[in-house]
Amino acid sequence: MASRVDLDGKPISAMTICMIGAGGFIGSHLCEKLMFETPHTVLAVDVYNDKINHLLESSGNKYPWAGRIQFHRLNIKNDSRLEGLIKMSDLVINLAAICTPADYNTRPLDTIYSNFIDALPVVKYCTENKKRLIHFSTCEVYGKTIGSFLPKDHPLRQDPAFYVLKENESPCIFGSIDKQRWSYACAKQLIERLVYAEGAENGLEFSIVRPYNWIGPRMDFIPGIDGEGVPRVLACFSDNLLRGEPLKLVDGGESQRTFIYIKDAIEAVLLMIENPKRANGHIFNVGNPNNEVTVRQLAEMMAKIYVKVSGEKMLDVPTIDVTAQEFYGEGYDDSDKRIPDMTIINKQLGWNPKTSLWDLLESTLTYQHKTYSQAMKSVMAKPATN
Ligand code: NAD
Ligand code: UDP
Repeated sequence: MASRVDLDGKPISAMTICMIGAGGFIGSHLCEKLMFETPHTVLAVDVYNDKINHLLESSGNKYPWAGRIQFHRLNIKNDSRLEGLIKMSDLVINLAAICTPADYNTRPLDTIYSNFIDALPVVKYCTENKKRLIHFSTCEVYGKTIGSFLPKDHPLRQDPAFYVLKENESPCIFGSIDKQRWSYACAKQLIERLVYAEGAENGLEFSIVRPYNWIGPRMDFIPGIDGEGVPRVLACFSDNLLRGEPLKLVDGGESQRTFIYIKDAIEAVLLMIENPKRANGHIFNVGNPNNEVTVRQLAEMMAKIYVKVSGEKMLDVPTIDVTAQEFYGEGYDDSDKRIPDMTIINKQLGWNPKTSLWDLLESTLTYQHKTYSQAMKSVMAKPATN
């Protein structure tokens, strides 16, 4: 591999990265990037490895990155091997979390333990062993926008000062405690504060990442095929499209989101990994402010693109409205709008997202169709058992 340089023109030396949650959606793409394009070694920690199996050695398979990725199946809740793996590494990346909204109000204790308590030893081992940490938080720590509290037709709602989310300025605005949707955001906020405080008081070298709806292949699961429960919106809508049923819009699908292609986002993470001096001590929004839609617009766009990539006919009724109570149960609430301010990531890492919403949905839905349509046909052909 030709010698690679960082943003300041200095050669990048090979490092060992302990990646916790490496078997998930983001972890699988980050492992691919590190294996295909860098000389770094990954100690991949997770309870599952299905999404990175294609990178792991199996009998008879020799890959160009042989020996640079090792899978360690362990649950960080209760495994003493974790500290040893952190000690062997130059950098720790923590992705492990419960991060599907359907769990936040229905399994709030698991959500809080996973996002706060289980992350505590990781932060502690990094501080004690002087290891750099990249911790994955969420844009959900901003909660609701200031503008959301104004009347619907108020002109200030159009003023970016009332909705753009800035890492070092915007407040974190959550709903009341009985709105358990916010258990995740609140746990993530507290772990961010802890990481930040370890930096301030004990010199921990850290970066915090706040992803804004990263989407692409391998995100979550399709219920009844490779998982159970209610996944995030991309997989929910993909499931509806594969089944030929209307896409369900929670409370009319009025909430707004910015979606970013996973491959664009991974570029940003690689820049953080390889430019510690520029990344340390910062919290980074990582999203695509140009890809904003309402959830209703997302559904309509996905239905149109699915027709193109699958050759199926357009649904007679593409969407139906459901209440949050019906879809998620008691205690659900929502973020109204999420536009990332890009100043810090532009300045520190010179990074910008590239892929339009149409293009990223087209490649992702092509993947969903190729991966799941046969299995879905078999599932749907089976007679119901009850
Ligand atoms: P994911 O669920 O696909 O990946 C998380 C991985 O962590 C899973 O493979 C899971 O098995 C593993 N894990 C969870 N608990 C563990 C434990 N106790 N021990 C070992 N492994 C454990 O989710 P993702 O989308 O890849 O998200 C990764 C991180 O990014 C999370 O912290 C999430 O909160 C954050 N995030 C992601 C998005 C997004 O757009 N995808 C948005 C906001 C925040
Ligand atoms: N949503 C929806 N229908 C679905 C799944 C989700 O209308 O089948 C909505 C959800 O209420 C939220 C948005 O889509 O407003 C994004 O949900 P996601 O699960 O991706 O997570 P979030 O962005 O809220 O973290």
